[in-house]
Amino acid sequence: MVTMSTSKKVLAVLVLLSSIFLYYYRTGSMSSSQKLVVVLGGGVVGLQTAVDLLEAGYAVTLLSKHLPGDEDPHYPSQQAAATWASDEPAVDAETKQWYDEGYKRWDEMSNGAEFKSAGVTRRPCFRYWEEPPRGGESALWHSSGVSSFRILDPPDLPSGVAFGTTFTTFCVNAPEYLNYLHNRIIALGGDVIRATLPTDQGLVKGLQAALEVLKNKTSVVQEEDVYAYVNAMGEGGLRMAGDKGLFPIRSQSIHIRGEAHKIADRIGDSGIYYAIPRVGSGITVLGGFMEMGNWNETVNPEVNANILRGCKKLIPECLNEHGEFDVVAEFVGFRPHRKAGARVEIEQIKSLSGSGNITVVHNYAHGPGGFFKSVGASRKVVRLVDSLSSGIILDQNVSKKEEQEVFEGFYRQGKASG
Ligand SMILES: Cc1cc2nc3c(=O)[nH]c(=O)nc-3n(C[C@H](O)[C@H](O)[C@H](O)COP(=O)(O)OP(=O)(O)OC[C@H]3O[C@@H](n4cnc5c(N)ncnc54)[C@H](O)[C@@H]3O)c2cc1C
Repeated sequence: MVTMSTSKKVLAVLVLLSSIFLYYYRTGSMSSSQKLVVVLGGGVVGLQTAVDLLEAGYAVTLLSKHLPGDEDPHYPSQQAAATWASDEPAVDAETKQWYDEGYKRWDEMSNGAEFKSAGVTRRPCFRYWEEPPRGGESALWHSSGVSSFRILDPPDLPSGVAFGTTFTTFCVNAPEYLNYLHNRIIALGGDVIRATLPTDQGLVKGLQAALEVLKNKTSVVQEEDVYAYVNAMGEGGLRMAGDKGLFPIRSQSIHIRGEAHKIADRIGDSGIYYAIPRVGSGITVLGGFMEMGNWNETVNPEVNANILRGCKKLIPECLNEHGEFDVVAEFVGFRPHRKAGARVEIEQIKSLSGSGNITVVHNYAHGPGGFFKSVGASRKVVRLVDSLSSGIILDQNVSKKEEQEVFEGFYRQGKASG
């Protein structure tokens, strides 16, 4: 009779234990029942999406070229002013919902002590039009979703202004907000890995490169270990997806010393000027340049001179004793946009190995509104990922909204200033 010697038994037990250890080592804190979603992009949209997916019970690994703290014209999230704004003269129902969700979320955050470090602050906003807004009352669609909205009485309008509104909104200290989201991902057990993926070889090759990074740095061993990818790479995401609609909305922004008491903008023939305090940092962000299709990274001093001139009327409280602003820094940035507006939808593509489909949920091209739209758009991503398990996949490849006027409408009044 063949019996196992004691040493062989010990060896078998050791092998069993080591495979159990290896399994848990490779899967980290991830429970075996959790599905892994890989988020590509560490801007506000990718970070918010990662947080929401983690809160919904998915395991998340985020890969990104830039991460909070990096300064680069092609990383607008770090540069953003940022506020909840309402520049669009008309919005479709879904975009309105994103606006509303963002407003409500920031309202909660600005009230809650637990969000102190997130950098969201409530402030009054004043909007001035040198000519009455085109579209009349319909341009004020946001009045129902915000608090303390009112049309300014003529005596309250500065000279040269024909129409004005005020309401309560929020300004976000962008660097603090990104750090907050990043820290939240880590606290929820997500992984964040710095990696640059190719964007000029198509989606399949881009995702394959992502898979290689995962294999090298995480417990992922094969294609099937990834339940879905989220493409939240902004400009890089449009490029990787081969999206022909890509164009930048180039900005020039200026940091000046002192925090304005309000958010203010003025829309006129010479362009749009805005001032948004970055509360807690001792600066205010001035801007006004929204130029489509220009990838020039160099600051144009004439444009900045116009922004400074335009903003003097908006926030005189920040002028020094010589009636000038103390300029701290100047930036060029590119907001990633696309003619049909933001793309938030599922795409299923054949994997390179040919063994099945890879699911990608796109969440990109939020243009000038990535901060305030990120909350609603990311919640939609979670719903789309959830829909995979039901077999009824929502919003699959529906991005043929080329005819919609979101893009036209946004800049209707905003010819490039400066
Ligand atoms: C001056 C200024 C003021 C603004 N003001 C406002 C405002 O008031 N309110 C508002 O809502 N929005 C505002 N915006 C717009 C807002 O900043 C953008 O809409 C938003 O940052 C877009 O976020 P995102 O995450 O989609 O893209 P991004 O910030 O571009 O992030 C994309 C991410 O993908 C990563 N990535 C890209 N390519 C690759 C690659 N090849 N491999 C790996 N990773 C890659 C990047 O590293 C980055 O982490 C402003 C922008 C600017 C510049």
